[in-house]
Amino acid sequence: MNRFITAVVASLLVAGPGFAQVTEEDLANDQTDTSQVVTNGMGRHLQRYSPLDTLNKSNVENLVPAWAFSLGGEKQRGQETQPLVYDGIMYITGSYSRVYAIDVKTGKEIWQYDARLPEGILPCCDVINRGGAIYGDKFFFGTLDARIVALDLKTGDVVWRDKIADYKAGYSYTAAPLVVGGLVITGNSGGEFGIVGEVQARDADTGELVWTRPMIEGHMGTYKGEESTMTGVLNATWPGDMWKTGGGATWLGGSYDIDTDTLVFGAGNPAPWNSHLRGAGEPKADNSGDNLYAASRVAIDPANGEIKWHYQTTPREGWDFDGVNEVVAFTDAEGNKKFATADRNGFFYVLNREDGAFVDAWPFVKDITWAEGIGDDGRPIYIEEGRPGDPSAATDGTKGETVFSAPSFLGGKNWQPMSFSQKTGLFYVPSNEWGMDIWNEPITYKKGAAYLGSGFTIKPMYEDHIGSLKAIDPMTGEWKWEYKNDAPLWGGVMTTAGGLVFFGTPEGEFIALDDETGEKLWSFQTGSGIVGQPITWEMDGEQYVAVMSGWGGAVPLWGGEVAAKVNYLNQGGLLWTFRLPKALASAE
Ligand code: CA
Repeated sequence: MNRFITAVVASLLVAGPGFAQVTEEDLANDQTDTSQVVTNGMGRHLQRYSPLDTLNKSNVENLVPAWAFSLGGEKQRGQETQPLVYDGIMYITGSYSRVYAIDVKTGKEIWQYDARLPEGILPCCDVINRGGAIYGDKFFFGTLDARIVALDLKTGDVVWRDKIADYKAGYSYTAAPLVVGGLVITGNSGGEFGIVGEVQARDADTGELVWTRPMIEGHMGTYKGEESTMTGVLNATWPGDMWKTGGGATWLGGSYDIDTDTLVFGAGNPAPWNSHLRGAGEPKADNSGDNLYAASRVAIDPANGEIKWHYQTTPREGWDFDGVNEVVAFTDAEGNKKFATADRNGFFYVLNREDGAFVDAWPFVKDITWAEGIGDDGRPIYIEEGRPGDPSAATDGTKGETVFSAPSFLGGKNWQPMSFSQKTGLFYVPSNEWGMDIWNEPITYKKGAAYLGSGFTIKPMYEDHIGSLKAIDPMTGEWKWEYKNDAPLWGGVMTTAGGLVFFGTPEGEFIALDDETGEKLWSFQTGSGIVGQPITWEMDGEQYVAVMSGWGGAVPLWGGEVAAKVNYLNQGGLLWTFRLPKALASAE
């Protein structure tokens, strides 16, 4: 055959009838179709709950390794991915913007893609990646040089790629993209560099940019290449030109509520960290120092990128309490449709799903120093002495008053995703209880340089734990039980109809707890710390569970005294897959 005929035959084989294509319906049914996992979050509402109960409390002791897959090389570092499983292939991303396609039955590699990263990338918090997305015949993921790449599912060949933003200005991308209605939707990272948070939507087939929505007031959105509407009202809550480098990075991606056809993305800290430079240092009657929409959840119409509503968790933010944490759509015990989110600032919020209106909020960590609570109006009741001081008020003008703050800037909960169990009606929140000394310093914006105006040291607060996995009732905020861990928790949680709560620890244990009592029912030592996100699925009549092991992420880089405390932990890079053999499924 000549090359032309070979190409035609190959294209017929690839495009021919019967070739599997992930559809919008597949994405919408990801939670209920237990044969595959085609979205990050095991459903775009991010509940991370599986209706599978083949594996359950009575037989989980029989869960055994099926295969393990090494990411190889010297490029280990933090492995925060969530695997996807589709049409006999598992897809995972790895540190340094790598992708692997693996035979899901044997663990054998099918293809690997390594993004060629330029010198001078500026990832703030390790060279991690949190997973990809699948739609049609393509796999989508973001890279550390702030690109979105579409790969052919079967071959790993690049179909299209596009620049999200300029990595030289501090932009990068690590979150899993979200696909809704044929659009690939991404955020951006770089909130520590004075970038501007934005959400972008591209045609999944062509990569063509459809709309953009900046997160900071004053910036213009776009729709099909034309300016659309301004985000917020210019200078309503930001002084002078500070909004131009105002942060609000959308670095954790978003969720999608199909019932209200709404995307919800979180926006990170306002930049710089030093709140006194943003007019946020003291309370104002007209709330003009709020710095919208930083430290907020923003609801967006997927059709055109217009903002539907917003809820700001930390107005006048001054502790790096990014508002990015995942917003999970759920139905409460009385049948009401709500959202829940556990914020960096230590409070667990419930919002109305129709309009984002505040319903209630409770602390999910102990001894919070910056606010007494959340008022009926949804605004924090500040403890003003808990705010790091203004350096311009200091005698030499170089360093403001240092305060002890809890949670630390790495948060009561950081990126690590929680789970909602439809079986118990509880949220399972991977929290951390730690504090920090924090102070402010003068800073001016410089492209590609850290833009903080703050210094800090993270410290443990309790003898017996930092990590704390809590079962939280979203009706009352009550903690039903708590599982304490020595090191900070930094990986995802998954619940199942079998009554199991799966998560991993930096110490390397992959654990299944009883969802009602928190009792440890099973564990497996994976050899390196777990900061990945577990999944489960069914294949050939058996239930499988997989999780990535490979210690890293922000804690070793930014954790101060806590980093020193856990510096004995080994790096790694192994994807572990477990199965419950059919013969042992009925064992008691
Ligand atoms: Ca931040």
